[in-house]
Amino acid sequence: MEKADIGLIGLGVMGQNLALNLADKGWKVVVWNRTVPGKEENVVDNFIANRAKGKGIIGSNELTDFVEALKAPRVILLMVQAGPAVDELMDKLLPLLDKGDILIDGGNSYYEDTERRVKELYDKGMYFVGCGISGGEEGALHGASIMPGGAQEAWPVIQPMLKSIAAKAEDGTPCCEWVGPGGAGHYVKMVHNGIEYGDMQLIAESYFAMKHLLALKNEQMADIFEQWDKGRLHSYLIEITSAILRHKEQGGGYLLDNILDAAGQKGTGRWSVINSLQLNTPLDVIAEAVFARNLSAEKNLRVLMSQHYMHVENHPVYNYQDTVAGLESTLYAARLIGYAQGFALMRTASEQYGWKLNLSTIALLWRAGCIIRSAFLNDIAEAYRRAPGLSHLLLDEHFGREVTEALPAWKKYIGVMLKEGLPVPVLSAALNYFLGLTTNHSPANMIQAMRDYFGAHTFERVDSPRGEFFHEHWEDNY
Ligand code: NAP
Repeated sequence: MEKADIGLIGLGVMGQNLALNLADKGWKVVVWNRTVPGKEENVVDNFIANRAKGKGIIGSNELTDFVEALKAPRVILLMVQAGPAVDELMDKLLPLLDKGDILIDGGNSYYEDTERRVKELYDKGMYFVGCGISGGEEGALHGASIMPGGAQEAWPVIQPMLKSIAAKAEDGTPCCEWVGPGGAGHYVKMVHNGIEYGDMQLIAESYFAMKHLLALKNEQMADIFEQWDKGRLHSYLIEITSAILRHKEQGGGYLLDNILDAAGQKGTGRWSVINSLQLNTPLDVIAEAVFARNLSAEKNLRVLMSQHYMHVENHPVYNYQDTVAGLESTLYAARLIGYAQGFALMRTASEQYGWKLNLSTIALLWRAGCIIRSAFLNDIAEAYRRAPGLSHLLLDEHFGREVTEALPAWKKYIGVMLKEGLPVPVLSAALNYFLGLTTNHSPANMIQAMRDYFGAHTFERVDSPRGEFFHEHWEDNY
């Protein structure tokens, strides 16, 4: 039998679609899924007999047969749960593999686990690639945004396969490029997901604000988001917000209004925030978005609290034109801050971990296929192409102009929303970050004074060179 170009392990939502996508692009694929004792369905047989029928995909129920079915060097794509499942599978697979073989982990693994696995496989003469894949099941089937990193020796072998199943940007470029060594691919995917957390919360807060400030119905809000999607906010998440607002249940009524306001999460947003704390890099938008999900999940406590602290619910109706335009500027500027913080974090990580990330390329990778695809990623890519060493996205002329223009409405509407008692933690965190970032008068002189007062932690002076530290005998008063 003709040997397979690539083996895929884990026929879940993503794995099945990626296998079909690869087969559609002409690659010979062999698949394996664990057989759970006592479980009636054989996932492999079922897949081969149904969705994969006529696609030439080989099904294998034994790992030895699966490995045997592959061409050398073997290329194996793991699409299983992040964490122990990947290590368990590696323990089973590695004794069956040879030097030069390639393992790709396409799940949402933690980048430090990927760093460890890359080293472990190098020691055995094999290559491990930690590959971020974004786009959900649709992307997996029709074209995803793919972020591979790790053992670069694997890239020439896997590049044609991965690029063939990637989404294509408007200019036809595949959204798949080598990201960097070690855990860089999974790190970039982690930050992508963090930005996604921020973006989703910002859109949710904007929906909430227009609903309460303007007393709008779902269809009216859907019209506004549809309109916004035609302009500078053009993006997948704005597009689906409009579709969600219009979606009716069987028997009438809008589904959105019947969905419990308690958000779930799987951890990539939290990981981004933990890493930003480790790298001392502000990530307010994503951090507040994670906290907002945590607070939303405390539904029982919120119900109890709402009975103690009654808010006035009949918000006044503001001027429609002005409010819609003001909210558009607010959302645009705040989203920009979310992306700017994500890119600033990647820049710091790149320096800290020696990854040499190309931020322009990363922005290009996210233009299609992935959940945060949006019009301004082209502008971000262009900004970093013009100035690869740009120390902050807001120093780019284009974005500087955009955010300056949005600022009056942004400040006004954050004020309006808070005055009306609407919780908008991420829209306002973005503004606070911007105001903090753009002032040369922060209150940190008081922090330094207090630290020195109680702990002799010393301080620098405005009238002395940086790096020269002083301690005051605070009990002496002249
Ligand atoms: P899924 O539908 O839950 O499928 C998980 C697969 O992993 C199943 O085939 C499962 O086998 C297998 N598996 C779990 N534990 C295993 C173990 N210990 N040993 C062997 N196989 C094991 O998950 P998915 O949505 O396809 O996601 C797969 C990976 O891609 C995850 O890391 C996820 O975070 C990532 N990802 C998902 C999306 C998305 O939108 N869903 C997008 C990007 C990335 P059984 O059938 O026997 O349970």
